Amino acid sequence: MVLSFSWVLMGMLESSLKGFRNKEHGSFPFIASMYIDSHCHITCDQLYDRIDEVIAHAQEQNVDQMLIMCLNREELERALKLKEQYPDRFKIAFGWFCGDARDVTEEDLDYLRQVCSQGKLDVLGEIGLDYYWDKSFNDIQKDLFIKQIEIANEFSLPISIHMRDASRDTLDILKEHAKTKIIFHCFSGSLEIMKEALKMNSLISFAGPVTYKNNKTGPENIKACPLDRILSETDAPYLAPVPKRGKENEPAFVRYTAEKIAELKEIPVQDCLEQIEKNYQSIFES
Ligand SMILES: [Zn+2]
Repeated sequence: MVLSFSWVLMGMLESSLKGFRNKEHGSFPFIASMYIDSHCHITCDQLYDRIDEVIAHAQEQNVDQMLIMCLNREELERALKLKEQYPDRFKIAFGWFCGDARDVTEEDLDYLRQVCSQGKLDVLGEIGLDYYWDKSFNDIQKDLFIKQIEIANEFSLPISIHMRDASRDTLDILKEHAKTKIIFHCFSGSLEIMKEALKMNSLISFAGPVTYKNNKTGPENIKACPLDRILSETDAPYLAPVPKRGKENEPAFVRYTAEKIAELKEIPVQDCLEQIEKNYQSIFES
């Protein structure tokens, strides 16, 4: 307990040093690590309306790497423009979302194949299964999921997985079809499901809910997950972490989740960030 508290203090100290560094100095030799948001929707209408501010906030908080998740053609076009402006900061993911599965046409899948063949994507996703809202088109979701995994295989692209109330089907499909690296985004499954997911070539990404007071499973999962398999994300504009809960989420807030991970792992924030950075880079090396 005392130990955890001292890590929190250390995290706070590091964070204030980072602020100091950003404002006053070009570099600070002791603090080299950056925060990484491995899943954010900054080109959705909501955040893109104030994109300069969103990027400035991220910069102030030392969030140097972001994976932009795009759910439609317009979001992808915007992300490509941003990547042109800041090639070292952004990676891009695009895929047809399971909730939209009924509307996805053959032409849409051809479009996905085309952008993959043009080398525009770093990750394919988010794709997966969501039975939470509506169970009436599970088979259509599964069909779209499998087709997109096959496209990812064809172009050797890692896949970002959305899995909600559908763990069994999602894992079964991945086991049978996935051949590339898997990122389980905003993981909220049980410990058993996480252990099964870890047997695959995968990373487990944690988001704001792990900071919520009533969330027991998230912290348990973080404690049980090997550090070299963990990622931090916001899923902005959704799911802002404590102490920003209830606000519109943005990549700048990923530090609260990363610091929570360090606290639960009982390691210095700096070490945690360095490992998350390595894990993130590993996505693009495979
Ligand atoms: Zn998302």
